[in-house]
Amino acid sequence: MKQINSLESEVRSYCRAYPVMFEKAKGPYLIDNDGKMYLDFLCGAGSLNYGHNNPVLKNKIIEYLNQDGIIHSLDLATESKEDFLKSFSKNILSPRNLNYKAQFTGPTGTNAVEAALKIARKVTGRTKIISFTNGFHGVTLGAVAATGNSHHRGGAGVSLNEVVFMPYDGYMGNKVSTIDYFRRLLEDNSSGVDLPAAVILETVQGEGGINVASSKWLQSLQEVCQEFGILIIVDDIQVGCGRTGSFFSFEGMGIEPDIVTLSKSLSGFGLPFSLLLLKPELDQWKPGEHNGTFRGNNMAFVTAKAAIEQYWTTYEFEKHIALKSNILKSRLEEISSKFPISDIQVRGKGMIYGIDCILENLASEIRQKCFENGLILETCGSDDQVVKLLPPLNISENKLHKGLNILEKSIAEIVQESNFDKKLTAEVVQN
Ligand SMILES: *Cc1c(COP(=O)(O)O)cnc(C)c1O
Repeated sequence: MKQINSLESEVRSYCRAYPVMFEKAKGPYLIDNDGKMYLDFLCGAGSLNYGHNNPVLKNKIIEYLNQDGIIHSLDLATESKEDFLKSFSKNILSPRNLNYKAQFTGPTGTNAVEAALKIARKVTGRTKIISFTNGFHGVTLGAVAATGNSHHRGGAGVSLNEVVFMPYDGYMGNKVSTIDYFRRLLEDNSSGVDLPAAVILETVQGEGGINVASSKWLQSLQEVCQEFGILIIVDDIQVGCGRTGSFFSFEGMGIEPDIVTLSKSLSGFGLPFSLLLLKPELDQWKPGEHNGTFRGNNMAFVTAKAAIEQYWTTYEFEKHIALKSNILKSRLEEISSKFPISDIQVRGKGMIYGIDCILENLASEIRQKCFENGLILETCGSDDQVVKLLPPLNISENKLHKGLNILEKSIAEIVQESNFDKKLTAEVVQN
């Protein structure tokens, strides 16, 4: 740990919040080198939807390695790639009546976002992109320009251009339709907003504070976009792969995006892997125009296919997610109702939930206390004021309750120790 602190760059972040040396991981648990077990409700920021070292996926990789399967291949044809594409098409796209071409980008989410923005600009011949308040899309230049958070934007070092921000669903409170505002700007020749190539959005904002867009808002957005010939990019990097209860977060919402980005849990095993889905008519790339040395990770092809075949060939898994979603929601509402301040809000969908603590200090105190008590979770939101829960989707109900018990106990301890009642009331009044 000391060596890491002195040898690794100041840019490190998560290891500051959880300052122990981790040694092993299994299912919903991270285990440190003292053997202490932590329930992991951070899950690699949503990269481990099927838990750590999922045995089915692990065995597939071991088998693949043992038969000298190809590890690196640029974008050469490999059997593992074809097998993944066939399985994805058959089990994910076809049953949902979706027709997309698949583009493998460099292995990070942000690279898929870069590719999405590039192809939208190329196809439409327009430069502007509309992103939304509190959106997070990655930290390379194109993607960070579409990211709201000033902490991330500040790291860019150059001016961030060609993206215009619109208020997300609910940004102006319940009574204001932010889509009416968007439409008005597009209709008015003097609004100063140029016709954009695309909008990019998360249907549930993961890093931005667990803000959930309603189906009504998404449908109105799609209507406006269709009317003005604007492409819709759904960034499903964090909330896709089952996180909101269905494979894609936009299923059942009445919209069909033109472009979709997937990454984080796509490999199922925590391996770097990214995928861009695009409507066939948008696939106007020239060979190698958006390239990369690590396009398509063969080990990830193997585990991604195995994950699809383990979890997504029937609707059983979705039913299990729905059951656990109910537990998560009702327990969090119960827990938050015991808080000494009233503005606390529980938000989420499927198995991504947040408790908006209003106060940054309170959220980080909860994270810290939970960590001491054996539960890892993260904070998010514009001021890191939201405690975020991302349990593995395949966690048992028992372990889910166990994690929530730790959360409840930790909050009770904070309230008791610090006389939070009075302190919080004072802070809230000041704000
Ligand atoms: C994590 C994330 C990204 C960026 O992915 P990286 O692999 O970190 O580059 C982009 N969009 C969303 C919604 C994300 O959650």
